[in-house]
Amino acid sequence: MVTASGATVTVVALRIEIDHEKCMGQGQCVYWAPATFDLGDDGLSRVLDAGGDPDDKIVLGAKGCPTGAISVWQGGEQLV
Ligand code: SF4
Repeated sequence: MVTASGATVTVVALRIEIDHEKCMGQGQCVYWAPATFDLGDDGLSRVLDAGGDPDDKIVLGAKGCPTGAISVWQGGEQLV
């Protein structure tokens, strides 16, 4: 990515995993990051696009999961 000042910034995409054994389909993740998460026909959350929303919204959605079903990594660091 090139910023307005012309600097080049390396963007590290998030890696998101959802444990379907824990997901209860309550949709908190979809509320916070609707372009990233969606509920499938089975009523369980899935990842639409790991870069669909700003990282902070994705992290909020993951942290807001009442069952702790979502894990998020950036590079080698686990954020949630
Ligand atoms: S917030 Fe958690 S329990 Fe709710 S749909 Fe998303 S992954 Fe499933």
